[in-house]
Amino acid sequence: MERFQAYVDANRTRFLEELKELCAQPTIAAQGVGLEETARWLENRLQRLGARVQRFVMDGSPPVLYAELGAGERTLLIYNHYDVQPPEPLEEWHTPPFEPTIQDGRLVARGVADNKGDLLCRLQALEAYQETIGPLPIRVRFVIEGEEEIGSPHLILFAEQHRDLLQADGCLWESGGKDAGRRFVLTLGVKGICYVELTVRTAASDLHSSWGGVIPNAAWRLVWALQTLKDANERILVDGFMDHVRPPTAQERAHLATLPFDEAQIKDNFGFADFVQGLSGVDLLVQHFYGPTCTICGLKAGYQGQGSKTVLPCVASAKVDFRLVPDLTPELVLELLRAHLDRRGFQDIQITDLGGTRPARSSLDDPFVRLCAEVARLTYGAEPVIYPTSPGSGPLDSLCRDVPTVMAGVSHANARVHAPNENIFLDDYFQGIRFVGELVRRFAAP
Ligand SMILES: [Zn+2]
Repeated sequence: MERFQAYVDANRTRFLEELKELCAQPTIAAQGVGLEETARWLENRLQRLGARVQRFVMDGSPPVLYAELGAGERTLLIYNHYDVQPPEPLEEWHTPPFEPTIQDGRLVARGVADNKGDLLCRLQALEAYQETIGPLPIRVRFVIEGEEEIGSPHLILFAEQHRDLLQADGCLWESGGKDAGRRFVLTLGVKGICYVELTVRTAASDLHSSWGGVIPNAAWRLVWALQTLKDANERILVDGFMDHVRPPTAQERAHLATLPFDEAQIKDNFGFADFVQGLSGVDLLVQHFYGPTCTICGLKAGYQGQGSKTVLPCVASAKVDFRLVPDLTPELVLELLRAHLDRRGFQDIQITDLGGTRPARSSLDDPFVRLCAEVARLTYGAEPVIYPTSPGSGPLDSLCRDVPTVMAGVSHANARVHAPNENIFLDDYFQGIRFVGELVRRFAAP
Protein backbone atom coordinates (compact mmCIF):
# COMPACT_ATOMS: atom_id res chain seq x y z
CA MET A 1 0.00 0.00 0.00
CA GLU A 2 3.03 2.31 0.08
CA ARG A 3 2.81 3.07 -3.62
CA PHE A 4 -0.93 3.56 -3.27
CA GLN A 5 -0.33 6.11 -0.53
CA ALA A 6 2.45 7.84 -2.46
CA TYR A 7 0.09 8.20 -5.43
CA VAL A 8 -2.65 9.67 -3.22
CA ASP A 9 -0.16 12.11 -1.69
CA ALA A 10 1.19 13.11 -5.10
CA ASN A 11 -2.32 13.71 -6.40
CA ARG A 12 -3.66 15.47 -3.35
CA THR A 13 -4.23 18.79 -5.07
CA ARG A 14 -5.89 17.28 -8.12
CA PHE A 15 -8.13 15.07 -5.97
CA LEU A 16 -9.21 18.07 -3.95
CA GLU A 17 -9.86 20.15 -7.05
CA GLU A 18 -12.02 17.34 -8.36
CA LEU A 19 -14.01 17.22 -5.11
CA LYS A 20 -14.53 20.96 -5.33
CA GLU A 21 -15.71 20.59 -8.91
CA LEU A 22 -18.28 17.96 -7.89
CA CYS A 23 -19.50 20.01 -4.91
CA ALA A 24 -19.74 23.16 -7.03
CA GLN A 25 -22.55 21.55 -9.01
CA PRO A 26 -25.87 22.18 -7.30
CA THR A 27 -27.81 18.89 -7.42
CA ILE A 28 -30.92 19.52 -5.39
CA ALA A 29 -33.42 16.71 -5.69
CA ALA A 30 -36.15 18.60 -3.82
CA GLN A 31 -35.98 21.41 -6.40
CA GLY A 32 -35.12 19.29 -9.44
CA VAL A 33 -31.89 21.29 -9.94
CA GLY A 34 -28.76 20.06 -11.75
CA LEU A 35 -29.38 16.33 -11.45
CA GLU A 36 -28.84 15.40 -15.10
CA GLU A 37 -25.62 17.44 -15.32
CA THR A 38 -24.10 15.74 -12.29
CA ALA A 39 -25.23 12.32 -13.42
CA ARG A 40 -23.38 12.96 -16.68
CA TRP A 41 -20.28 14.21 -14.83
CA LEU A 42 -20.24 11.01 -12.77
CA GLU A 43 -20.87 8.80 -15.75
CA ASN A 44 -17.83 10.30 -17.38
CA ARG A 45 -15.73 9.97 -14.20
CA LEU A 46 -16.70 6.31 -13.84
CA GLN A 47 -15.91 5.61 -17.48
CA ARG A 48 -12.45 7.11 -17.02
CA LEU A 49 -11.91 4.49 -14.31
CA GLY A 50 -12.76 1.85 -16.90
CA ALA A 51 -16.24 1.16 -15.53
CA ARG A 52 -19.12 -0.07 -17.65
CA VAL A 53 -21.90 2.37 -16.81
CA GLN A 54 -25.64 1.99 -17.28
CA ARG A 55 -28.30 4.50 -16.45
CA PHE A 56 -31.81 3.61 -15.34
CA VAL A 57 -34.67 6.09 -15.42
CA MET A 58 -37.97 5.13 -13.77
CA ASP A 59 -41.10 7.23 -14.41
CA GLY A 60 -38.98 10.24 -15.34
CA SER A 61 -36.78 9.97 -12.22
CA PRO A 62 -33.23 11.34 -12.27
CA PRO A 63 -31.01 8.50 -13.45
CA VAL A 64 -29.86 5.75 -11.15
CA LEU A 65 -26.30 5.08 -12.28
CA TYR A 66 -25.13 1.51 -12.18
CA ALA A 67 -21.43 0.92 -12.82
CA GLU A 68 -19.31 -2.18 -12.75
CA LEU A 69 -15.53 -2.50 -12.78
CA GLY A 70 -12.85 -4.98 -11.88
CA ALA A 71 -13.02 -8.76 -11.92
CA GLY A 72 -12.63 -11.40 -9.28
CA GLU A 73 -14.49 -13.99 -7.29
CA ARG A 74 -15.84 -11.54 -4.78
CA THR A 75 -18.14 -8.60 -5.33
CA LEU A 76 -18.36 -5.36 -3.39
CA LEU A 77 -21.51 -3.31 -3.80
CA ILE A 78 -21.19 0.44 -3.16
CA TYR A 79 -24.18 2.71 -2.64
CA ASN A 80 -24.07 6.52 -2.85
CA HIS A 81 -26.25 9.39 -3.97
CA TYR A 82 -25.37 12.47 -6.01
CA ASP A 83 -28.21 14.68 -4.82
CA VAL A 84 -27.93 17.07 -1.89
CA GLN A 85 -30.29 18.94 0.44
CA PRO A 86 -31.43 22.47 -0.48
CA PRO A 87 -28.88 25.00 0.83
CA GLU A 88 -31.41 27.35 2.48
CA PRO A 89 -31.23 29.43 4.67
CA LEU A 90 -28.57 31.05 2.48
CA GLU A 91 -27.86 33.95 4.84
CA GLU A 92 -26.47 31.53 7.44
CA TRP A 93 -23.68 30.31 5.17
CA HIS A 94 -20.31 31.99 5.78
CA THR A 95 -19.30 31.15 2.21
CA PRO A 96 -21.66 30.39 -0.72
CA PRO A 97 -22.89 26.76 -0.51
CA PHE A 98 -21.87 25.89 -4.07
CA GLU A 99 -18.50 27.65 -3.99
CA PRO A 100 -16.45 25.02 -2.14
CA THR A 101 -14.03 26.75 0.18
CA ILE A 102 -11.11 25.47 2.24
CA GLN A 103 -11.03 26.86 5.77
CA ASP A 104 -9.05 25.64 8.79
CA GLY A 105 -8.32 22.25 7.25
CA ARG A 106 -11.91 21.72 6.18
CA LEU A 107 -13.74 21.84 2.89
CA VAL A 108 -17.03 23.71 3.26
CA ALA A 109 -19.77 23.09 0.68
CA ARG A 110 -23.32 21.81 0.46
CA GLY A 111 -23.22 18.02 -0.01
CA VAL A 112 -19.54 17.52 0.81
CA ALA A 113 -20.35 15.40 3.89
CA ASP A 114 -23.68 14.03 2.65
CA ASN A 115 -22.40 12.49 0.58
CA LYS A 116 -20.30 13.68 -2.35
CA GLY A 117 -17.14 13.29 -0.26
CA ASP A 118 -17.90 9.61 0.39
CA LEU A 119 -18.69 9.07 -3.27
CA LEU A 120 -15.65 10.71 -4.80
CA CYS A 121 -13.20 9.33 -2.25
CA ARG A 122 -14.31 5.84 -3.27
CA LEU A 123 -13.77 6.60 -6.95
CA GLN A 124 -10.37 8.16 -6.30
CA ALA A 125 -9.36 5.17 -4.17
CA LEU A 126 -10.14 2.85 -7.06
CA GLU A 127 -8.12 5.08 -9.40
CA ALA A 128 -5.15 4.99 -7.04
CA TYR A 129 -5.44 1.23 -6.70
CA GLN A 130 -5.48 0.64 -10.46
CA GLU A 131 -2.63 3.07 -11.09
CA THR A 132 -0.31 1.60 -8.45
CA ILE A 133 -1.28 -1.95 -7.51
CA GLY A 134 -2.96 -3.08 -10.72
CA PRO A 135 -6.36 -4.25 -11.94
CA LEU A 136 -8.98 -4.49 -9.19
CA PRO A 137 -8.90 -8.01 -7.67
CA ILE A 138 -12.64 -7.89 -7.01
CA ARG A 139 -15.74 -6.88 -8.87
CA VAL A 140 -17.09 -3.51 -7.73
CA ARG A 141 -20.70 -2.56 -8.40
CA PHE A 142 -21.80 1.03 -7.85
CA VAL A 143 -25.39 2.11 -7.42
CA ILE A 144 -25.60 5.92 -7.34
CA GLU A 145 -29.02 7.52 -7.18
CA GLY A 146 -30.19 11.12 -7.33
CA GLU A 147 -33.20 11.07 -5.00
CA GLU A 148 -31.91 10.01 -1.60
CA GLU A 149 -32.62 13.37 0.00
CA ILE A 150 -36.28 13.14 -0.97
CA GLY A 151 -36.71 9.58 0.32
CA SER A 152 -35.48 7.47 -2.64
CA PRO A 153 -38.94 7.13 -4.19
CA HIS A 154 -37.71 5.07 -7.16
CA LEU A 155 -34.90 3.03 -5.64
CA ILE A 156 -37.13 0.16 -4.54
CA LEU A 157 -38.44 -0.19 -8.08
CA PHE A 158 -34.90 -0.22 -9.43
CA ALA A 159 -33.89 -2.85 -6.88
CA GLU A 160 -36.89 -5.05 -7.66
CA GLN A 161 -36.28 -4.90 -11.40
CA HIS A 162 -32.51 -5.47 -11.19
CA ARG A 163 -31.91 -7.91 -8.33
CA ASP A 164 -29.27 -9.62 -10.50
CA LEU A 165 -27.15 -6.46 -10.52
CA LEU A 166 -27.17 -6.27 -6.73
CA GLN A 167 -25.68 -9.66 -5.91
CA ALA A 168 -22.62 -9.07 -3.73
CA ASP A 169 -20.57 -10.39 -0.82
CA GLY A 170 -20.55 -7.09 1.02
CA CYS A 171 -21.90 -3.58 0.68
CA LEU A 172 -20.35 -0.26 1.55
CA TRP A 173 -23.17 2.21 2.26
CA GLU A 174 -23.03 6.00 2.20
CA SER A 175 -22.58 8.15 5.32
CA GLY A 176 -20.47 7.69 8.41
CA GLY A 177 -17.17 9.10 9.59
CA LYS A 178 -15.79 10.17 12.94
CA ASP A 179 -17.67 10.80 16.18
CA ALA A 180 -17.26 13.72 18.60
CA GLY A 181 -14.21 11.98 20.13
CA ARG A 182 -12.64 11.72 16.61
CA ARG A 183 -13.11 7.92 16.68
CA PHE A 184 -13.90 6.25 13.37
CA VAL A 185 -17.40 4.80 13.31
CA LEU A 186 -18.83 1.79 11.49
CA THR A 187 -22.61 1.40 11.48
CA LEU A 188 -24.20 -1.91 10.57
CA GLY A 189 -27.69 -1.04 9.49
CA VAL A 190 -30.76 1.11 9.80
CA LYS A 191 -34.09 0.93 11.53
CA GLY A 192 -37.15 0.66 9.32
CA ILE A 193 -39.98 3.14 9.44
CA CYS A 194 -43.75 3.09 9.09
CA TYR A 195 -45.23 6.58 8.88
CA VAL A 196 -48.98 7.02 9.18
CA GLU A 197 -51.54 9.74 9.56
CA LEU A 198 -54.51 8.92 11.78
CA THR A 199 -57.62 10.94 11.04
CA VAL A 200 -61.06 10.95 12.61
CA ARG A 201 -64.20 12.89 11.72
CA THR A 202 -67.10 13.04 14.16
CA ALA A 203 -69.52 15.55 12.58
CA ALA A 204 -70.14 17.43 9.33
CA SER A 205 -68.68 20.68 10.69
CA ASP A 206 -67.14 22.28 13.77
CA LEU A 207 -69.77 23.20 16.41
CA HIS A 208 -70.30 25.57 19.30
CA SER A 209 -68.63 23.94 22.30
CA SER A 210 -71.86 24.17 24.29
CA TRP A 211 -72.69 20.92 22.45
CA GLY A 212 -69.66 19.33 24.16
CA GLY A 213 -71.75 17.30 26.61
CA VAL A 214 -73.76 15.46 23.99
CA ILE A 215 -72.02 15.51 20.60
CA PRO A 216 -68.81 13.55 19.94
CA ASN A 217 -65.55 15.50 19.81
CA ALA A 218 -62.95 14.41 17.23
CA ALA A 219 -60.02 15.62 19.34
CA TRP A 220 -61.02 13.50 22.33
CA ARG A 221 -61.73 10.54 20.07
CA LEU A 222 -58.23 10.78 18.59
CA VAL A 223 -56.60 11.18 22.01
CA TRP A 224 -58.38 8.07 23.29
CA ALA A 225 -57.26 6.09 20.26
CA LEU A 226 -53.66 7.32 20.59
CA GLN A 227 -53.63 6.38 24.23
CA THR A 228 -54.15 2.73 23.32
CA LEU A 229 -50.92 2.73 21.28
CA LYS A 230 -48.44 3.43 24.08
CA ASP A 231 -48.68 3.66 27.86
CA ALA A 232 -47.11 6.06 30.33
CA ASN A 233 -44.32 3.54 30.95
CA GLU A 234 -43.30 3.96 27.29
CA ARG A 235 -44.46 0.46 26.37
CA ILE A 236 -45.83 0.09 22.85
CA LEU A 237 -49.24 -1.59 23.22
CA VAL A 238 -50.25 -2.25 19.60
CA ASP A 239 -51.48 -5.85 19.69
CA GLY A 240 -48.80 -8.29 18.54
CA PHE A 241 -46.27 -5.53 17.78
CA MET A 242 -43.64 -6.46 20.37
CA ASP A 243 -43.87 -10.16 19.43
CA HIS A 244 -41.91 -9.25 16.29
CA VAL A 245 -39.05 -7.50 18.05
CA ARG A 246 -35.83 -9.50 18.17
CA PRO A 247 -34.15 -8.77 21.52
CA PRO A 248 -30.35 -8.37 21.58
CA THR A 249 -28.26 -11.43 22.33
CA ALA A 250 -25.94 -11.57 25.33
CA GLN A 251 -23.04 -10.81 22.98
CA GLU A 252 -24.85 -7.81 21.51
CA ARG A 253 -25.57 -6.47 25.01
CA ALA A 254 -21.92 -6.93 25.93
CA HIS A 255 -20.92 -5.01 22.81
CA LEU A 256 -23.22 -2.12 23.76
CA ALA A 257 -21.35 -1.83 27.05
CA THR A 258 -18.18 -0.98 25.07
CA LEU A 259 -19.75 1.92 23.13
CA PRO A 260 -18.90 5.50 24.02
CA PHE A 261 -22.20 7.24 24.78
CA ASP A 262 -22.00 10.43 26.79
CA GLU A 263 -25.41 10.64 28.44
CA ALA A 264 -24.67 13.91 30.24
CA GLN A 265 -23.46 15.53 27.03
CA ILE A 266 -26.59 14.48 25.15
CA LYS A 267 -28.84 15.85 27.91
CA ASP A 268 -26.87 19.05 27.80
CA ASN A 269 -26.95 19.31 23.98
CA PHE A 270 -30.70 18.84 23.74
CA GLY A 271 -31.69 20.48 27.00
CA PHE A 272 -33.75 17.73 28.65
CA ALA A 273 -33.49 16.46 32.22
CA ASP A 274 -33.68 12.69 31.93
CA PHE A 275 -34.05 9.90 29.44
CA VAL A 276 -37.49 8.28 29.47
CA GLN A 277 -38.09 5.88 32.35
CA GLY A 278 -34.80 7.06 33.83
CA LEU A 279 -32.99 4.80 31.37
CA SER A 280 -29.21 4.74 31.56
CA GLY A 281 -26.21 2.58 30.62
CA VAL A 282 -26.71 -0.58 28.58
CA ASP A 283 -30.49 -0.55 29.07
CA LEU A 284 -30.65 2.87 27.46
CA LEU A 285 -28.59 1.66 24.50
CA VAL A 286 -30.70 -1.49 24.13
CA GLN A 287 -33.77 0.71 23.87
CA HIS A 288 -32.06 3.16 21.48
CA PHE A 289 -30.57 0.61 19.08
CA TYR A 290 -32.63 -2.57 19.49
CA GLY A 291 -36.02 -1.12 20.43
CA PRO A 292 -38.80 0.08 18.12
CA THR A 293 -40.46 3.47 18.63
CA CYS A 294 -43.96 4.90 18.40
CA THR A 295 -43.71 8.67 18.08
CA ILE A 296 -46.45 11.26 17.77
CA CYS A 297 -44.81 13.65 15.31
CA GLY A 298 -47.70 16.08 15.05
CA LEU A 299 -51.24 16.66 16.26
CA LYS A 300 -53.94 18.78 14.66
CA ALA A 301 -57.46 19.61 15.85
CA GLY A 302 -59.67 22.55 16.62
CA TYR A 303 -58.62 26.12 17.27
CA GLN A 304 -54.90 26.95 17.45
CA GLY A 305 -55.05 30.73 17.14
CA GLN A 306 -54.62 33.47 19.70
CA GLY A 307 -56.95 33.68 22.70
CA SER A 308 -59.94 31.44 23.25
CA LYS A 309 -62.44 30.11 20.78
CA THR A 310 -65.12 27.84 22.21
CA VAL A 311 -65.31 25.21 19.50
CA LEU A 312 -66.10 21.51 19.26
CA PRO A 313 -63.80 20.20 16.52
CA CYS A 314 -65.25 17.76 13.99
CA VAL A 315 -61.89 16.57 12.61
CA ALA A 316 -58.65 15.61 14.32
CA SER A 317 -55.49 14.05 12.97
CA ALA A 318 -52.11 12.86 14.16
CA LYS A 319 -48.91 12.03 12.31
CA VAL A 320 -47.26 9.03 13.91
CA ASP A 321 -44.05 7.25 13.01
CA PHE A 322 -42.90 3.84 14.13
CA ARG A 323 -39.17 3.12 13.85
CA LEU A 324 -38.82 -0.58 13.22
CA VAL A 325 -36.28 -3.18 14.21
CA PRO A 326 -36.03 -6.74 12.89
CA ASP A 327 -38.48 -8.48 12.41
CA LEU A 328 -41.04 -5.71 12.05
CA THR A 329 -41.97 -4.45 8.58
CA PRO A 330 -44.10 -1.45 7.57
CA GLU A 331 -46.66 -3.77 5.96
CA LEU A 332 -46.99 -5.77 9.17
CA VAL A 333 -47.33 -2.65 11.31
CA LEU A 334 -50.14 -1.28 9.12
CA GLU A 335 -51.97 -4.58 9.48
CA LEU A 336 -51.45 -4.80 13.25
CA LEU A 337 -52.46 -1.18 13.76
CA ARG A 338 -55.72 -1.57 11.82
CA ALA A 339 -56.65 -4.72 13.76
CA HIS A 340 -55.66 -3.10 17.07
CA LEU A 341 -57.87 -0.04 16.51
CA ASP A 342 -60.80 -2.08 15.16
CA ARG A 343 -60.72 -4.41 18.15
CA ARG A 344 -61.16 -1.38 20.43
CA GLY A 345 -64.04 0.11 18.51
CA PHE A 346 -61.96 2.66 16.61
CA GLN A 347 -63.11 1.62 13.14
CA ASP A 348 -63.73 5.32 12.49
CA ILE A 349 -60.03 6.18 12.79
CA GLN A 350 -58.73 6.32 9.26
CA ILE A 351 -55.12 5.24 8.66
CA THR A 352 -53.25 6.87 5.78
CA ASP A 353 -49.98 5.21 4.85
CA LEU A 354 -47.35 7.96 4.39
CA GLY A 355 -44.57 5.56 3.45
CA GLY A 356 -42.15 3.13 4.97
CA THR A 357 -38.93 1.20 4.66
CA ARG A 358 -37.83 -2.05 6.24
CA PRO A 359 -35.15 -2.42 8.89
CA ALA A 360 -31.83 -4.03 7.98
CA ARG A 361 -29.01 -4.94 10.29
CA SER A 362 -25.79 -6.91 9.72
CA SER A 363 -24.39 -9.12 12.43
CA LEU A 364 -21.42 -8.05 14.56
CA ASP A 365 -19.94 -11.45 13.70
CA ASP A 366 -20.29 -11.16 9.96
CA PRO A 367 -16.92 -11.68 8.22
CA PHE A 368 -17.45 -8.53 6.15
CA VAL A 369 -18.08 -6.51 9.29
CA ARG A 370 -14.96 -7.94 10.89
CA LEU A 371 -12.97 -7.16 7.77
CA CYS A 372 -14.14 -3.53 7.79
CA ALA A 373 -13.18 -3.26 11.47
CA GLU A 374 -9.71 -4.64 10.72
CA VAL A 375 -9.24 -2.23 7.81
CA ALA A 376 -10.38 0.62 10.07
CA ARG A 377 -7.82 -0.38 12.70
CA LEU A 378 -5.09 -0.38 10.04
CA THR A 379 -6.14 2.94 8.55
CA TYR A 380 -6.93 4.93 11.66
CA GLY A 381 -4.58 3.22 14.10
CA ALA A 382 -7.34 2.73 16.65
CA GLU A 383 -10.29 0.52 17.42
CA PRO A 384 -13.37 1.69 15.47
CA VAL A 385 -16.66 2.33 17.24
CA ILE A 386 -19.23 -0.11 15.88
CA TYR A 387 -22.90 0.80 16.12
CA PRO A 388 -25.21 -2.17 15.55
CA THR A 389 -27.57 0.08 13.62
CA SER A 390 -28.37 3.68 13.00
CA PRO A 391 -31.45 4.71 14.97
CA GLY A 392 -32.54 6.39 11.72
CA SER A 393 -33.90 4.82 8.56
CA GLY A 394 -32.95 4.44 4.90
CA PRO A 395 -33.54 2.30 1.84
CA LEU A 396 -30.83 -0.17 2.83
CA ASP A 397 -32.99 -3.27 2.87
CA SER A 398 -34.36 -2.74 -0.63
CA LEU A 399 -30.86 -2.63 -2.10
CA CYS A 400 -28.80 -4.88 0.16
CA ARG A 401 -31.20 -7.61 1.21
CA ASP A 402 -29.06 -10.48 2.56
CA VAL A 403 -25.82 -8.64 1.74
CA PRO A 404 -23.80 -7.66 4.82
CA THR A 405 -23.62 -3.87 4.85
CA VAL A 406 -21.43 -1.34 6.59
CA MET A 407 -21.70 2.44 6.62
CA ALA A 408 -18.29 4.06 6.66
CA GLY A 409 -17.52 7.53 5.37
CA VAL A 410 -15.56 10.75 5.63
CA SER A 411 -17.96 12.89 7.63
CA HIS A 412 -17.66 13.87 11.30
CA ALA A 413 -19.79 14.74 14.32
CA ASN A 414 -19.97 18.45 13.54
CA ALA A 415 -20.18 18.22 9.76
CA ARG A 416 -23.45 20.20 9.81
CA VAL A 417 -25.16 17.78 7.48
CA HIS A 418 -28.41 19.20 6.02
CA ALA A 419 -27.52 22.54 7.69
CA PRO A 420 -25.62 25.68 6.64
CA ASN A 421 -21.79 25.45 6.50
CA GLU A 422 -21.66 21.70 5.81
CA ASN A 423 -18.04 20.56 5.93
CA ILE A 424 -15.53 17.73 6.16
CA PHE A 425 -11.92 17.64 7.35
CA LEU A 426 -9.45 17.25 4.48
CA ASP A 427 -7.42 14.78 6.55
CA ASP A 428 -10.50 12.62 7.07
CA TYR A 429 -11.10 12.68 3.34
CA PHE A 430 -7.64 11.38 2.48
CA GLN A 431 -7.78 8.78 5.25
CA GLY A 432 -11.08 7.70 3.71
CA ILE A 433 -9.32 7.07 0.39
CA ARG A 434 -6.81 4.89 2.21
CA PHE A 435 -9.60 2.99 3.97
CA VAL A 436 -11.26 2.10 0.66
CA GLY A 437 -7.94 1.08 -0.91
CA GLU A 438 -7.17 -1.25 2.00
CA LEU A 439 -10.67 -2.65 1.93
CA VAL A 440 -10.46 -3.54 -1.77
CA ARG A 441 -7.10 -5.25 -1.27
CA ARG A 442 -8.17 -7.31 1.74
CA PHE A 443 -11.66 -8.04 0.48
CA ALA A 444 -10.13 -9.98 -2.43
CA ALA A 445 -8.56 -12.55 -0.11
CA PRO A 446 -9.97 -12.22 3.38
ZN1 LIG B 1 -28.88 13.50 3.70
